[in-house]
Amino acid sequence: MAEIFHDADADLSLIQSKKVAIIGYGSQGHAHALNLRDSGVEVVVGLREGSKSIAKAEEQGLEVASVADAVAQADVVMVLAPDQSQRAIWANDIEPNLKEDAAVFFAHGFNVHYGYIKPGPTHDVCMVAPKGPGHTVRRLFEEGRGVPSLVCVEQDASGQAFELALSYAAAIGAARAGVIKTTFREETETDLFGEQAVLCGGVSQLIQYGFETLVEAGYQPEMAYFEVCHEMKLIVDLINEGGLTKQRWSCSDTAEYGDYVSGPRVIRPDVKDHMKEVLADIQNGSFAKRFIDDQDAGAPEFLELRAKGMAHPIEKTGQEIRKLFAWNNSNLDKDYTDGE
Ligand code: NAD
Ligand code: MG
Ligand code: MG
Ligand code: MG
Ligand code: MG
Repeated sequence: MAEIFHDADADLSLIQSKKVAIIGYGSQGHAHALNLRDSGVEVVVGLREGSKSIAKAEEQGLEVASVADAVAQADVVMVLAPDQSQRAIWANDIEPNLKEDAAVFFAHGFNVHYGYIKPGPTHDVCMVAPKGPGHTVRRLFEEGRGVPSLVCVEQDASGQAFELALSYAAAIGAARAGVIKTTFREETETDLFGEQAVLCGGVSQLIQYGFETLVEAGYQPEMAYFEVCHEMKLIVDLINEGGLTKQRWSCSDTAEYGDYVSGPRVIRPDVKDHMKEVLADIQNGSFAKRFIDDQDAGAPEFLELRAKGMAHPIEKTGQEIRKLFAWNNSNLDKDYTDGE
């Protein structure tokens, strides 16, 4: 059974007595920095020169410094730059400036687990990984709620690393929802598997094949978009609230029966064999190596695949349809290529 912790188990004063450097101000970075600040923690945001995020963080009233200067004054350094950039930032700007007893925190185990970052023996090495996007981490905190998070310790130099990580998790609001104890290995491997096999990879491929099947059979692309993409959120909301059982309860009996007889025809048992192959590549490090080698070479494969994904006809159809949603007008498809 997983060990789960809440606010009552955490000592908020531990993190309140530290200065925390948040490296990066993207999805997770802005949420951690603002939530910590609002929980009474002293925060400095470390950004590279010329970063568009400097103005954003300063507008929010946060102290901003270069990565090197932020690290030099911090007791806790939370690394929230993109996973593929962390190794270089670590070597150039973090490690040389780290206080001897500073704790190093991550929100995903990738670089530590696969050995791209190896903090020296005097540092606590911890993870606080919210199980949700950064923008949700901030929004729920402001509503008095929180996103459940995973917490673990890879290296306990202080003898108090777990308590410190739990305190940090409470300060970003996670312990209001629940904090689950895990390991760097388990978090890294299950996170990569979930996003590849089911959440991102599996769902995207399922939507594209469903769309192609209907359009190739002569149905209107707009109809296909609604049936295999737009309604996905409605179904997932029900699953999130009450599991597959609530989803099946809320759908018609026709839909429920079709789920039972046709789901297993589409997602056949050998899909599990393919999932096991994906998991094996995650466990033996070959996925991590392929990703980092490509990134180090300027990401040719990654950028080609991204362009191919964006060129799929369902993206054009979806863009046109979403313009019709009156409530969506303030949030219309932005330029998703800039990475911010
Ligand atoms: P992001 O891409 O949204 O933001 C990264 C930030 O780092 C940006 O502000 C960028 O300007 C900054 N940055 C880039 N290069 C930099 C450099 N050289 N020096 C300093 N800053 C630099 O990243 P993210 O999605 O928030 O991911 C951060 C970490 O959180 C990753 O380890 C990721 O796996 C983890 N995580 C993300 C999510 C999520 O929902 N996005 C959820 C859980 C964990
Ligand atoms: Mg992930
Ligand atoms: Mg329907
Ligand atoms: Mg029903
Ligand atoms: Mg992204």
